[in-house]
Amino acid sequence: MCMQAKHGRPLNVSERLIYQPYFSNLVMEQARIVEGYVPFWLKRDMCAVVLGRRIYMRAGAYQANTLRGVELLGHELTHVSQFLHGMTILSYLWSCRYGYHQSPFEIEAYANGARIALDFNYNMLQISKISNQ
Ligand SMILES: [Zn+2]
Repeated sequence: MCMQAKHGRPLNVSERLIYQPYFSNLVMEQARIVEGYVPFWLKRDMCAVVLGRRIYMRAGAYQANTLRGVELLGHELTHVSQFLHGMTILSYLWSCRYGYHQSPFEIEAYANGARIALDFNYNMLQISKISNQ
């Protein structure tokens, strides 16, 4: 994979529309999405990891404009926000000392991802209702 692809791309127009209400401009501008490449040490059962402003996702893990994809990127953008607001790899690892699901950073990321996906689902339903009238 070329270096450009490893450095990732900024959020595209439709992602900005979906996530703008939930994240600061800093997160919207700084986040980079790297698809089809993850660090070698990532556990096999993990489909994505965030390091600083970069979101690394396995090939095919992120399906844009699907409920699951919207939830996944919402979760990972929350980690970008956490990094931009002072979280470090060390403080993240420390937060997981009682288990991944006990980490306050993960609890926040799962809650955000679920909320954004719920809103996305609601918005899509409204759009389909309008277009079926
Ligand atoms: Zn997470």
